[in-house]
Amino acid sequence: MIPVTKPFLPPSEEYQKYLTGIWQRQWLTNMGPLANDLEIKLKEYLGLSHLLFVTNGTVALQMAIKALDLKGEIITTPFSFVATTSSIVWEGCKPVFVDIDENSLNIDASKIEDSITEKTTAILATHVYGNPCDVVEIEKIASKHNLKVIYDGAHAFGVRINGKSIFEYGDISICSLHATKLYHSIEGGLVITKDATILKKLAYMRNFGFDGPEAFAELGINGKNSEFHAAMGLLNLEYIDKILEKRKAINDRFDDKLKNLNVRKPLWHDDSANNYAYYPIIFENEESMLKAMNFLKSHEIFTRRYFYPSLATTLPYLEKQYFPITDDIAKCVMCLPFYPDLSIEEVDLICRFLLRIQNN
Ligand SMILES: *Cc1c(COP(=O)(O)O)cnc(C)c1O
Repeated sequence: MIPVTKPFLPPSEEYQKYLTGIWQRQWLTNMGPLANDLEIKLKEYLGLSHLLFVTNGTVALQMAIKALDLKGEIITTPFSFVATTSSIVWEGCKPVFVDIDENSLNIDASKIEDSITEKTTAILATHVYGNPCDVVEIEKIASKHNLKVIYDGAHAFGVRINGKSIFEYGDISICSLHATKLYHSIEGGLVITKDATILKKLAYMRNFGFDGPEAFAELGINGKNSEFHAAMGLLNLEYIDKILEKRKAINDRFDDKLKNLNVRKPLWHDDSANNYAYYPIIFENEESMLKAMNFLKSHEIFTRRYFYPSLATTLPYLEKQYFPITDDIAKCVMCLPFYPDLSIEEVDLICRFLLRIQNN
């Protein structure tokens, strides 16, 4: 059986060493020494001066919307994971969808202005599969219309653009460190901002708004993370180069073996490099995608329709809306199995099956 993803796990003895330390200190959560150390090491690795380690990527998004005090309408993409949209609704705002660009699969910046109304307060865009949005154009539109920008960088760990971390863009960026992501702390997330005032607000928010043991500075939530999660994060960071090396090898093998497959891949941003978070392929139509998916499944190889269906047609709390490019891509896209443990032989097997079913 080949699953679509498998979380990276370091050797258990190494995790055990961290557990021994936790038992000695008896400090389990509330931003203990491991969580603190993880923040320092991640800043160093990502080349950022500020970030906060939080519970998960979804809470990170909700904290971001709250910290910017957003109201009214937020322009966003229908081609993302549900948390991008649900966070907007959860914070009492209205998501306004804009169709995606057929090449990057990110929100189509050239269509944003048409959707701006007097109620618009922000743009929340996803770097889909880690591929950077048109951050320059989005920044231009945002400053022209006085809008805030939040980036859902759940997939974008380690991505740089012109040598600079992608998380430096927007008023706030978030990342997910969930077990299925490229780099993980089991559950976890990051909130990133360059603005010192917003950072301070976010730090209060993460800890119920506490300002000392008996005072409050802000409306807060419990956005903290534990020492056990931080330990996994610290350990996985020691393996990140190996993880990336493996993923690159798998990626290159797929590229090579699938040259003659009649599919296309998202077009990556010119000034950035792939972080090998996913291996998506886009078929000519839904029928050929399903045929391939089912054939692989019959051989115990599991792929995922990611993202399908469009968020604008699926959520019971929103009116259905149709977007030609999003709806079309969502029907035809498939993510292939992609994780460090996947062997080259398994990659070859997947590719052989894909080519066989195409030529059938
Ligand atoms: C995974 C994911 C999230 C949510 O992150 P969690 O850490 O699972 O809460 C948000 N947005 C996108 C695009 C994601 O893929």
